[in-house]
Amino acid sequence: MIDHRKLGRELDLFVSDPLAGAGLPIWLPAGAAARHAVEEYVRELERRSAHQHVYSPPLGKRELFELSGHLGYFADDMFPPLRLSADDEFVLRPALCPHHALVFRARGRSYRELPLRIAELGGMYRSERSGVLGGLSRVRAISLNDAHTFCAPEQVSAEVAEILRLIRAAHAALGVRPAGFRLSLRGPGEKYVGDDAQWAHAEELLRDALAGVEYVEAPGEAAFYGPKIDIQIVDAAGRESTISTIQVDFDKPERFDLSYTDSDGSRRRPVMLHRSLVGSMERLFAYLIEAHEGAFPAWYAPVQLVVLPVGDGQADAAADLARRAVDAGLRVEVDTAGSLGARVRDATRRRVPYLGVLGAAEVADGALALRLRDGRALAPMPADAALALIGGQVAARAADLLPPG
Ligand SMILES: [Zn+2]
Repeated sequence: MIDHRKLGRELDLFVSDPLAGAGLPIWLPAGAAARHAVEEYVRELERRSAHQHVYSPPLGKRELFELSGHLGYFADDMFPPLRLSADDEFVLRPALCPHHALVFRARGRSYRELPLRIAELGGMYRSERSGVLGGLSRVRAISLNDAHTFCAPEQVSAEVAEILRLIRAAHAALGVRPAGFRLSLRGPGEKYVGDDAQWAHAEELLRDALAGVEYVEAPGEAAFYGPKIDIQIVDAAGRESTISTIQVDFDKPERFDLSYTDSDGSRRRPVMLHRSLVGSMERLFAYLIEAHEGAFPAWYAPVQLVVLPVGDGQADAAADLARRAVDAGLRVEVDTAGSLGARVRDATRRRVPYLGVLGAAEVADGALALRLRDGRALAPMPADAALALIGGQVAARAADLLPPG
């Protein structure tokens, strides 16, 4: 069976070292290169959709998380506070929302600024029990693709529709195939903030946004502050989890006393939408490694091109070609060790999408013979054209290794 932990080892993507701690994996250079490409893509998608990015620290004063409700309603999932002195305690944050509420509150806000979309790919922590931890799918240190939209109540529907559009775009680019949509609602016996009218209103807004979409209802799966739309994935072992989410929150704007000046000069309270397009980098990559069996689309493959000189006589030309590929923005390696066949097998085993073979004839002609990791081989073409072909597929974030036609 495909298992991202096994593939992660074979492809040198990440390591879980007991000395670092369970649920605290370390991203190795190949995994980090792939993640970096995905992070860049997500930031660009958000930037084009008028998000503003911020940085905030992964820990904050205890009082911040008392105000947000996390210590009252979510403490079981948090690490115990860190005490510096009797009146100075810090909390490893379990969510980014409190800091983003402070971003909204950093100065007076006008209705003209709404919807205000604050985005961050930020760190947070959950005190998962060690028994449930494994590879990247359940971790204690989480890097979340997160954003909070502060908007007028009448803007919620359009905003949720736009978030759904972004989620679909991100899934298509990355190769995520959702297993289904879920409307996560309050359940019995759990702790939830807010009054019934708020919950009913938030639920109605999400049901409207899901018109025409097939979904199931999941009582007991809501956040403690509001209902949510969850988009589910299923891993190779058949386990279901949430990859994307949209949540409506009337509670935090009250707790943080958030307000903006409306067009008539009155003070109004915004609604806070919490959303993640692709979830945490950890869970996303646990899924992507299995979904692609390690053979990522070229745009986020750790190494995109391996240059293989047939013999020593082509070593200089290989180094020169690799330099040009790096300058063109590609991730490239030169492999000179061993027989050509062994090097082709090794690059294929590592799922490198493009292999560029340089023999004496290619060097003499300024050409390159491309092979693909799936076994296809192209006729030698001018080296510049080969680099342009790869660069074009990468820039287009194409799923296929060759342009159509
Ligand atoms: Zn949030």
